[in-house]
Amino acid sequence: MKRIAVLGATGSIGASALDVIARHPDRFRASVLAAHRKVDELVALCVRFQPDLAVIADAALETQLRDKLASAGLSTRAAGGAAGLLEAASGDCDTVIAAIVGAAGLESTLAAARAGKRLLLANKEAVVMAGALLLDALHTGGGDLIPIDSEHNAIFQCLPFQWGQTRLIKRPSLLDKQSNRSIESDPIEKAGVRRIVLTASGGPFRGRKRAELATITPAQACAHPNWSMGRKISVDSATLMNKGLEVIEAHWLFGAAPAQIEVVVHPQSLVHSLVEYADGSMLAQLGNPDMRTALAHALAWPQRVDAGVPALDLIRIGQLQFEAPDRDTFACLDLAYRALAAGGTAPTILNAANEVAVAAFLDGNLSFLAIAELIEATLGAMPAEPVHSIETLLHADLTARQIAQRKMRQGFC
Ligand code: NAD
Ligand code: MG
Repeated sequence: MKRIAVLGATGSIGASALDVIARHPDRFRASVLAAHRKVDELVALCVRFQPDLAVIADAALETQLRDKLASAGLSTRAAGGAAGLLEAASGDCDTVIAAIVGAAGLESTLAAARAGKRLLLANKEAVVMAGALLLDALHTGGGDLIPIDSEHNAIFQCLPFQWGQTRLIKRPSLLDKQSNRSIESDPIEKAGVRRIVLTASGGPFRGRKRAELATITPAQACAHPNWSMGRKISVDSATLMNKGLEVIEAHWLFGAAPAQIEVVVHPQSLVHSLVEYADGSMLAQLGNPDMRTALAHALAWPQRVDAGVPALDLIRIGQLQFEAPDRDTFACLDLAYRALAAGGTAPTILNAANEVAVAAFLDGNLSFLAIAELIEATLGAMPAEPVHSIETLLHADLTARQIAQRKMRQGFC
C-alpha cells in the first residue's frame, strides 16, 4: 500500500489525484492532505479519505481545523503553517503529489525531494524557479521524480525507459550550482533524441491578434477550450506563459537545450507532446485531456492502472491539427525562452513577475496585454544573478515581486 501526501488537495490537480487514489483502495491511501485556506473543504476530504495528517497552510486557521476534525469524530492530526507543509512533504508517506500553485509550493517540493520521496511534480513554478536546486535535492534524497504536467508526463512516457530511470530516478548529481545550469554536455542526445516537441492548445484566444485582446476579462481568460484547471494556470494558458514555463521545466527535467525544445500549437489537446529521435522517428503520447491519466501513470509507475478516463475514439476524431504559435501576439512564450537563455535567477524573476501580473489581472487591476509588458519590464530592471542557494532565489523572487508591484503603481494599468 503506497501512502500518498496530496499537497494542494483542494485544487484541480488535487481533486484529480484523489479521484485516482479512490479508484484503487488496495494500492493507494491518501495519508496526508494539505490545503491553503479552505478549512471546510479540507475537513470534507478528511471525512472521505481519513488521512493521518491534515495541514492548513494559513497558520491562523490551524485551531479551526483541529476543532472541526474533532467535531467530525476523526483521529486525523492537524498541523498548520510552513512547518506543517514541511512535515506533510517529508513525514510519513511514500509519495508526494506537489500540486500547490505557484512559488508557494517551492519549499515543500524541495523538502519532499530532500526526504527521498517519490515526487509527483505538478507545481511547475518550483522547477522553473529552482531547477538546479530541485535536481540537487533529488540527488541528496535519493528519491524519484515523475512529471505530472501532461506534456512532461507524455515526454517521460516517450523516452526510453532506461533513460527516464537514470535521469529522474536515482540519477547522479548533474549540476553546476554556480550558474543554476545543467552541466551535462549532451544527455538527451545520448538517448538518441534530437528534439522535444511540446504541444500547446493555444488557449482560448488562439487566432486572435493583439488589438482583439485589449479588453479581455478574467472570466474569458479562464474559459479554457479543453482543460478544466485552476485560475492561475488558466490565465497562463491564455497568455502562453504556461508553455513558456513548460519549456523551462523541460530543460531541467530532461536536460534539453533551449534549441532542442520546440512548441507546436495543437488545438485539440489530444497529442500531449512528442519526442523526435535521430532516426526520424517521432513518438507521441495521446489521450483525452484529463489530468487523471498523467496522475494514474505516475502513481502506479512502472505499472499501469485504470484512471477513469475513456480511451480516445480515433475515428470520431478523424484529424489532428498542428500550427505554429503566434509569438508576436503571445509575447510571454519568448520571454520565457529569453529567461532560460539568461540563466541564473532570470527564470525566478520571470515567474515572480508573472505571478504578480496574473494575480493583478484576476483582481481586475491589470489588463490582459499588460501581463507580458510587466514581466518584460521587471526582467529588464533586474540583472540575472548566479544562484548559490535557496536564499539567492528567495531574494530574487521577493525583489522581482516588489519591482513588479512598484511598476504597476507607476501606471501599468
Ligand atoms: P488550483 O488553484 O486549482 O489549486 C491550487 C492548490 O494549491 C489548492 O489546493 C490551494 O489550497 C493550494 N494553495 C494555494 N496557495 C497555497 C499556499 N500559499 N500554501 C499552500 N497551499 C496553497 O491549481 P491547479 O490547477 O490544481 O494547479 C496546481 C499546480 O499544478 C500548478 O502549479 C499548476 O501549474 C500545475 N498544473 C496544473 C494542471 C491542471 O490541469 N490543473 C496541469 C498541469 C500542471
Ligand atoms: Mg501542461
